[in-house]
Amino acid sequence: MNEILKHAVEEARKMTHLGKTASYIPELGRVNKEYLGVCVCTGDGQYYQYGNADIRFTIQSISKVISLAVALERCGFDKTFDRVGMEPSGDSFDSLVKLDLTSDYPSNPMINSGAIAVASHLASEVSFERMLQFTRLLCMDEAIELNERAYHSEMGHISRNKAIAYLLESKGILENTVEESLKFYVRMCSLNVTAASLAGFGLVLASDGIHPVTGKRLLHSRVVQTVKTIMLTCGMYDGSGKFAVEVGVPSKSGVGGGILSVVDKRMGIGIFGPSLDEKGNSIAGQQVLRELSAKMKLHMFADNVPEF
Ligand code: GLN
Repeated sequence: MNEILKHAVEEARKMTHLGKTASYIPELGRVNKEYLGVCVCTGDGQYYQYGNADIRFTIQSISKVISLAVALERCGFDKTFDRVGMEPSGDSFDSLVKLDLTSDYPSNPMINSGAIAVASHLASEVSFERMLQFTRLLCMDEAIELNERAYHSEMGHISRNKAIAYLLESKGILENTVEESLKFYVRMCSLNVTAASLAGFGLVLASDGIHPVTGKRLLHSRVVQTVKTIMLTCGMYDGSGKFAVEVGVPSKSGVGGGILSVVDKRMGIGIFGPSLDEKGNSIAGQQVLRELSAKMKLHMFADNVPEF
């Protein structure tokens, strides 16, 4: 395993110069785009890592997975999907075009419009403090905190998400004010994780929502099934289809450079690579996952897959 990770990272590192950091949030623009790290957490709770897997970075859109899971737990399936769809949008993550012109609700909860709608509902259901505690539990990482600098940096450059939130409000989709909804959404995006925290979270999802160490159920089976399916179809935004063909592993990216991947019944994978492609996905991180998928037969439709 260690050799496979090392080779994948060393090769993919050659691609970091091809992308850019997410400078639309100034704090993210300052990160070294040559960072690249991977961590794998296997069924027995064993961690394997290579590269910059211990550096803290903001979870960004990967928090949409946590918010969706909590919304499904608290509000149920029907209420959650009453105001957000489950179809890939085919547009960029921060688009408001379809929402304005062709639909009365956001396409899915993995794009900004959908996640802001979910956040608006969650803000009345659960405190941010509880969300933080649950995130620590899901990621098996007690050190996760709110990154205040990233939070304020994003809140100071929030025009586009504000436009999305006002559009949602005009369609009667928000349950809280634009300000409250965005505050909840951006705080969740500003949690500091590592590739290892994402690998731990991935393993919980790979294990049907059960904490691998305590054996305690953290999420219902149906919630986990729903979340993983939406990650597969929508988790890499308008790059989800190609990524599913090439890697075949439900994944969710964030503009902080993270990717969370779930190899069902086998392992969780966390990536940190802040150099992004034009769709906002880690450019070298995707290459690492292509290589791991090929070498370890991780594609969900691969044959001769080894036992858990
Ligand atoms: N906080 C970011 C935003 O709303 C998250 C986007 C992302 O990670 N794709 O723009």
